[in-house]
Amino acid sequence: MKFSYKILLCSIMIMAAAFGIGGYFFVNYVFETSMEREIGQAMDESSILQFAFETAALNIPSKYAVLQDSTIEEIGLNLENSGERRLLRISDENRETLYASEGFVEETELLSSTTAQTKVYQVIPLNEHYYIQTGTVINAMDRILYLETMKDVTEVFAERAQGFSVYRRLTLIMLISCSVAMFFISSWLTRPIRLLTRATRKMTEGDYGYRAEQISQDEMGQLTIDFNRMAEALEENIHQLENEVRAREDFIAAFSHELKTPLTAIIGYADLLRSRKLDEEKHFLSSNYIYTEGKRLETMSLRLLDIIVTKRYEIETQNFGVEVLFDYLHDMFAEKDDIRLTCSYQEGRVRAEINLLKTVLLNLVDNACKASEPGAIVEVYGERREQGYLFAVKDYGTGIPEEECKKITEAFYMVDKSRSRSKNGAGLGLALCTEILKLHGSELQIESTLGEGSCFSFLLPYEEVMDSEQKADH
Ligand code: ADP
Repeated sequence: MKFSYKILLCSIMIMAAAFGIGGYFFVNYVFETSMEREIGQAMDESSILQFAFETAALNIPSKYAVLQDSTIEEIGLNLENSGERRLLRISDENRETLYASEGFVEETELLSSTTAQTKVYQVIPLNEHYYIQTGTVINAMDRILYLETMKDVTEVFAERAQGFSVYRRLTLIMLISCSVAMFFISSWLTRPIRLLTRATRKMTEGDYGYRAEQISQDEMGQLTIDFNRMAEALEENIHQLENEVRAREDFIAAFSHELKTPLTAIIGYADLLRSRKLDEEKHFLSSNYIYTEGKRLETMSLRLLDIIVTKRYEIETQNFGVEVLFDYLHDMFAEKDDIRLTCSYQEGRVRAEINLLKTVLLNLVDNACKASEPGAIVEVYGERREQGYLFAVKDYGTGIPEEECKKITEAFYMVDKSRSRSKNGAGLGLALCTEILKLHGSELQIESTLGEGSCFSFLLPYEEVMDSEQKADH
């Protein structure tokens, strides 16, 4: 059953119980008040009749020493018919009826409980009518008599029945109108829940961008805000997962493609070597192809291993002076004739894993050399900036097209595949650099102009800066 219907049903039940009980007590209260008034009147009338009887008895001529039964009957008849007709019964000392109005109740139960000190009454039903029967004692001329009266109160009972019937109808009308009002109130109250349910359904169907509309500022409104926040986080995570899955698929596709080329060459040349007798030069060329392609495969697998290991690596950073890195690069490329490497840097200290940082710089310088003509200049420099220490490798080589700059850090991505492969590249160097810099909380910045050259740089937080700013060229 719907939540709004549950609210509606509970409200109807509570209202019905409240109206029913309230109405019952109200009508009964009115009835009891009327009955009290009627009883009071009946008792007063009984006292008046008692007094009237005693007065009438006193007026009887004194020659009658004793009050005769016939006189009592006569007085009774007079009392019955004086003014409005009333019902009464007069009994003697033995509670034997001396005079009774026509239609007076026959039973004498009340009479037996009437004494000289107490006036009594009871409500009795008789022939579809209700009466208040009163009983009192009359003391007249040394005779003890019992006077009973009956007052018709059927109207009071009828009023009560009518009161109940009117109230029942009223309750029904109120219940119907309140139910209609409650129907709208409960569906208004549960609207945020319906909106949330719709949002959940939409999200289950794959529409992760759908958000629930916030229509109130209360707890339901807060719930909607929290739900939307959760949906946002969920959407972000799902997109991240989707991107990761896509990246993995791209990686596998690129990896298989990169394996295919050297393997085809190796298999082709190996087949040539085993199936034909080749002259010495062709034999050397074929073996050399197999060797160089095999070497490429080896480099690729080592790089891949490096990337995988780096991803799971927990770095242990050291605080060291940057000159260590520049000296290392200088030593590495000092012997190479085909390139002129210049290193200039401001002194400073950074916090990093030194060997990983050497790998990054080595890769960047290596790429710069590959992109440059023989004998060209490659600059490596270090600068203290507000945000940290900047390392940069700048070349004046081929440059990279603007749209390719974002892609070259992806694994196996090469701008010019044949040129890269011919230089033993596999498109993994920059992917490795990116992973290493990520471990250090940094990222690679690439600025490049096609035909003019490129500059690869990254920032590292520096620990402590020396006072004297020195620039040293090596
Ligand atoms: P590779 O092993 O092929 O060098 P990298 O990941 O290091 O792989 O580089 C990816 C690609 O980016 C290279 O194939 C090259 O096309 C391009 N690239 C990298 N550095 C430079 C540079 N300094 N100048 C021009 N192109 C570059």
